[in-house]
Amino acid sequence: MNKVSLHTVLMTMLVVFAGRGVAAEPGSSRPAKPTSDGVWKAGVAQVDITPSEPVWMAGYEARTNPAAGRLQPLYAKTLALQDPAGKRLVLITTDLVGLQAKFTDGLAFMGCGADANPLPRRTVELCQKYGRQLADAVEAALKNELGASTWVAFYANDVMAYIPSLRVLQEGGYEATITSGELAGSCWGPQTEENIIHKVHELVAKVRGAAENASSRKLRVVVFGAHPDDPETGGGGLIALLAKAGHEVIAAYMTCYRGDRQIGNEPEAVVRRREAAAACQILGAKPHFFDYAHEKLMADAAAFETVSLWLKSIQPDIVVTHWPLDTHPNHHVTGSLVWQCYLREGTWNLYFFEVMTDQQTKGFRPELYLDIETVREIKQRSCFRHESQKPDSFWVVHEEMHRRRGEECGVKSAEAYFLVEARNGRPLLPVSFLPKKK
Ligand SMILES: [Zn+2]
Repeated sequence: MNKVSLHTVLMTMLVVFAGRGVAAEPGSSRPAKPTSDGVWKAGVAQVDITPSEPVWMAGYEARTNPAAGRLQPLYAKTLALQDPAGKRLVLITTDLVGLQAKFTDGLAFMGCGADANPLPRRTVELCQKYGRQLADAVEAALKNELGASTWVAFYANDVMAYIPSLRVLQEGGYEATITSGELAGSCWGPQTEENIIHKVHELVAKVRGAAENASSRKLRVVVFGAHPDDPETGGGGLIALLAKAGHEVIAAYMTCYRGDRQIGNEPEAVVRRREAAAACQILGAKPHFFDYAHEKLMADAAAFETVSLWLKSIQPDIVVTHWPLDTHPNHHVTGSLVWQCYLREGTWNLYFFEVMTDQQTKGFRPELYLDIETVREIKQRSCFRHESQKPDSFWVVHEEMHRRRGEECGVKSAEAYFLVEARNGRPLLPVSFLPKKK
C-alpha cells in the first residue's frame, strides 16, 4: 500500500487494458505470449473505503475506545482477467481482515475491546444485516456487470469484518482476538458497511466502464411484447429507468388486434396502437408495431424471417421479451420467435420478463430484481393509457407481482428478469439489479 496523505479523499482508479500481446498472464510476472486467436485482457481498479467515523480496531484486546486517527487509507481493489475465450475471473480484495459471506447462528464477532464496547446490540444486528447485504451485493453486481458466468469467490473467516491496526503490526503485535457472539459488541459503526457497499458498486461500475471502453455509450434496447400493454406491464419500470438514463428503448408489439374486431366505432388495431403510442410516450420509448392478427401469429418460418429481419435492421444491444413458458399463445410465440433469433443469429444479450405471473407466465425463475419504486408511478400512468384493457384490474395483478418480487429482494416494488447468458463483449442492461434475498 502506498503512503498517501491521510486527508486525501482518494478515488483513484487505475485501469489498464492490455492490447494484443501485451497483457500479463495471471499468476505470472512474465508477459503473455501473443496468441493467434485472441488476447488476455486485464483491468484493475481501486476505491478508498476508509471509514469516515472512528471504528473499533483489531489488535489490542484491552482497548476501550475506537480508533483515534488514521495512519493510512484503506482500499477495496479488484483485478478482472479475461482469457482469449472470453472466460472471466474477478478477484476482489479489501484492506480488512475479513468479510463473511454468509452468517449463521454460530456467528462470532471480533471481540477487540468488546468487554468495554459501548455499542448496543442493535448495532450488531445492523452489522449482520449489512454484512449479508454486502456479500450479496458484491456478487450480484459482479455477475450483472461482468457476466452471469463470472465466478465470484469471497474470502471469509469467522469474524464479521474488522479493520486491522497498522500500529499493532508496527509494534510487533498480533491480529488474532476473536470472541463469540454472546459479546454485545462490534467493530462497525452503522454506516460503515453501507459505505463499503456503495464503494464496491462504484468500483464495479468503473471496471465495467473500462471493460467496454465506452461507459457513456447509449444503448438501444428492444422490449418485445406480444400485445400493447405487455412491454409496459412486464418491463415498464425498466423502460422508464433506461429512458431516464438516456438510452433508446423500442417497445415492439407483435399483434394489436383479433380479426375484424371493433372497439367502439374503430378497428381494434387503431385503438390499441393509439393507446400503446401514448403509453410509450409516458415511458420515453418508441413503439414499433407488427401487423399480425392474434389468431394468425405462429412461430413459423415466415414470422421468424419477419422478426429476424427487423432485429437485424435496428441492431439492438439488448432484447427483453416474454419468458416463453406462458399460457397465452401470443406471449409464448413472441418469446419463442425472439429466442430463435437469439439462438441463430443474435448479436445481442437476451433477457426475459414476466406478465400476469401464474395466470400467464409460468415457472419463471428470475435471478435479477429491479427496484422500480422511483418510477412505479410512471409505469402505472403508462399502463392506464390502455383504457380498452380494463387497466384497473390488470394493474392490481401487477402491483401484487411488484410486492412479491420486492419482498424477494428486500424492496417495496420490483420487477424481475432472467438473463439467458452474458454474451462476450455485448453490453448488459445498464441498471443496478438486486439479488434474491437468501
Ligand atoms: Zn399480452
